[in-house]
Formats: sequence, structure tokens, C-alpha cells
Amino acid sequence: MSLNFRDTAIAFKSHSTRSLRRSKWLFFILSKSFLVNFGKSLTLIAFSLRLPINVIILKTVFKQFCGGQTVGDSNEVIAHNWQHKVGSILDYSVEGQFNELGFEQTKKAIFETLTLVNSNPGVPLGVFKVTGLVETSLLKKVSSNSVLSIPESKAWEKGKTRIDDILNYAHSLNVPIMIDAEESWIQNAIDEIAERGMEFYNKKNAIVFNTIQCYKTDQLAHLKKSMARAKHNGYKYGVKLVRGAYMEKENTRAKELNYKTPIQPSKDHTDSQFNECIEFILENLGSPQNNGDINLIIGTHNEESVIFAVNKLREKKWPNSDAPVWFAQLYGMSDNISFNLANQGYKVAKYLPFGPIREVIPYLFRRAEENTSVKGQTARELSLINKELARRKKLII
Ligand SMILES: Cc1cc2nc3c(=O)[nH]c(=O)nc-3n(C[C@H](O)[C@H](O)[C@H](O)COP(=O)(O)OP(=O)(O)OC[C@H]3O[C@@H](n4cnc5c(N)ncnc54)[C@H](O)[C@@H]3O)c2cc1C
Repeated sequence: MSLNFRDTAIAFKSHSTRSLRRSKWLFFILSKSFLVNFGKSLTLIAFSLRLPINVIILKTVFKQFCGGQTVGDSNEVIAHNWQHKVGSILDYSVEGQFNELGFEQTKKAIFETLTLVNSNPGVPLGVFKVTGLVETSLLKKVSSNSVLSIPESKAWEKGKTRIDDILNYAHSLNVPIMIDAEESWIQNAIDEIAERGMEFYNKKNAIVFNTIQCYKTDQLAHLKKSMARAKHNGYKYGVKLVRGAYMEKENTRAKELNYKTPIQPSKDHTDSQFNECIEFILENLGSPQNNGDINLIIGTHNEESVIFAVNKLREKKWPNSDAPVWFAQLYGMSDNISFNLANQGYKVAKYLPFGPIREVIPYLFRRAEENTSVKGQTARELSLINKELARRKKLII
């Protein structure tokens, strides 16, 4: 059966007509950058004046892109997705933690999500960002091999212990956990944490997953080196492949500080490297009869990339549900990819952000900006929603 990402009946089967109408209205607003900018300013002003706008946010953009304010709140979405074999990856989306209290709160929330992964098949993987657990300034210093002061060394050790507690807990439950990639100037430290985590916890199964960002020029080489390290040291290699989320920030900083940007010269270069990485990993994945050393998560909303990977898996004769490969999208976006893949038996999961509404706002602003700047994608969401609403209307008549 060939994949048809335009099959809206499958794509939106977890959505009521009412929820589709809400999404249509929201994506329409997101397609207008002036409305997004206006909405952002209004939200910030309302928060600073302590106006009661939580309800409006909860019923609109929060509902579109988040599971709830707590793990428990997210159960409804998790169950809806899982009815159609789409998993949910609970992502504690509180950003910019900067003190011990905040780091400990994040750790607690991640523990909660791992406990759920262990007990709910609809939540197949865990995830976290290192910047939620360690001070960013420390990650920057460690990444550039700067000498740490004594208090900094202590804080760094504390941060590493916090992360190790999480990986250790995931390992004790046999639950896979992804470490998100972040800005290039802190990524060396994150890579080292992730690779050491794999070395320690991936002896039997792939528990720890690192992330490769294909918008950086050196990532195929980095991937090959990491895979060789895993093979040499006898541990399973877990990797999430993405294009990368911080392009503008990376380019701006490189310009300001006058160094060569790590970002690819064009989108085509990023796309090519993404495919090359998929190809390299799938070439080394083994076969349905003999595999188990590499596990891949492909995090993308790009239909061509998904088709590319699916074709490669078919060439290698992998039954749809058997390959150690997951496809992942963000909740609220690209259901046409997620639900059609799941309908054909592929392993699929969606990042499902949760957290107190005020603290999730930066995440929501980024989703809004992403959907405003990625014009093609918003237009695609809108046209698919319109198609499905028209199809449902015809059924009634
Ligand atoms: C499940 C999941 C997990 C994710 N985890 C992470 C993570 O850990 N770390 C992270 O950084 N991001 C992460 N992302 C975000 C991801 O990196 C992309 O920003 C986002 O998915 C858009 O890329 P795309 O592959 O979906 O598709 P597309 O829309 O085809 O690609 C857009 C992307 O292409 C790249 N690009 C665009 N223009 C140019 C250009 N001129 N030159 C070079 N490159 C260009 C950018 O990376 C841009 O985001 C994740 C995404 C998903 C779905």
C-alpha cells in the first residue's frame, strides 16, 4: 500500500469537526505575521498587567500545540493519539530555568514522564533538554574547554549528577530517552553527556539517544564518528535526526562575533545532508534478521524526507512495524504525516509539550513564529484542514 499524505480522513481521524474548525482559525492567524506579532505583544502586555488571559490561551494556541499543564492533564490527548497507534512523547516545555529550584523541578517532571513511559504504551519514549537541568553559561564554558572556577565546578558536577539520575532511572525502567540538541556553542558539552550516557546505559538496549542537527555542515562526519565510537566500545547507538531549530540565532551570533557560521550555505545543503545521514544509518541498521545495534528517530515534518526513509526501509525489506526506526512530529502539526504513517504500521510518536501555561509561552511563541515563517507548511496545514472539513460536510449532505 502506498503512503498518501493527502488522505485527510486518516490524517484527522482523531479530531472532531469542532477541533478542526479551531485549528483552521488558528492556522489562518498564524499565516499572517502581523497578527502573530500583534498577538505576541498583546500576550506579553496582558501578562505584565496580570490580566486574566490564561483561559483564552488555554482554549486556542495551548490546546493546539500542548497536552496540558501537567502530565495528568495530557492523558486525554495521549489516549486520543494512541487510539490510532500514534504515540506521545511528553516534553516538559518549561524553558530558561536558571537556579537549583528550577532544575530540580524539571528533573521531577522528567521523572514523572519516565514513570508514565514505563506504564503506558501510548507514551513510548522520554525526552529532555540539558538546559532545563544545568546552567547554560556552564555548558558554554565546558563546550569551549574554559577553566571552571571552584563554585562552577561544583555546579557542573551537580548538573551532571542530575542528568545521570534521569538516565539511570530511564535505564532501570528500560525506557528510551532522547536528549535534544541545542545551540552550537553549548552542544559539545551536550554531545559528551549524551555519548557518555550511551556508553554507560546502552550496553544491552538503546536507552539514551543523542540528536544530530543536519543544518550544521559537519554532521555526517560527526554521525560517522559517534557510530564508530559506539561500535568500538560495544554499546548500542541511539540517534534522533533533525534539521535544526536555531538557524537564525546561529547565523546572527556568527555575524556579530565574526566567525564562520556552522550552518549550511542553503536549505538544499541541509536537505542533502539529512538524506545522507538517513542513508548512512539505514545502510548500517542491519537486516530484519540481524539488527539491534542502532536505533533511529527521524524528527521531521518534511514529507520528502519521510518518503525517502520509507523507500530505503522498503528496499531493505523491513516490515513496516519491525524496523528500529521511529518517525516523530510535533503535536498540533503534520498530522497528515503522523497518522498516515501509523495507519501503515510504522512506529510514530508526537512531541507533546506540557507545563504551566505561563512557562510554556516561549515554546508557543516559537511554534507561532515557525508556522509563520515556514509559509509552505502553514498553507499545507490549512489546505488539508479545509479538504477534510469539506469531505465531512459532504458526508452530512
Ligand atoms: C520530533 C522532533 C524533534 C525535534 N528535536 C529537535 C532538537 O532536538 N533540536 C533541534 O535543534 N531541533 C529539533 N527539532 C526541530 C527541527 O530541527 C526543525 O526545526 C523542524 O522540524 C523543521 O524542519 P523539518 O525537517 O520538519 O522540515 P523543513 O521544513 O523541510 O525544514 C526546515 C528546516 O530546514 C533548515 N533550513 C531552512 N532554511 C535553511 C537555509 N537557508 N539554510 C540551511 N538550512 C535551512 C532549518 O533547520 C529549518 O528548521 C525537532 C523536530 C521534531 C519534529
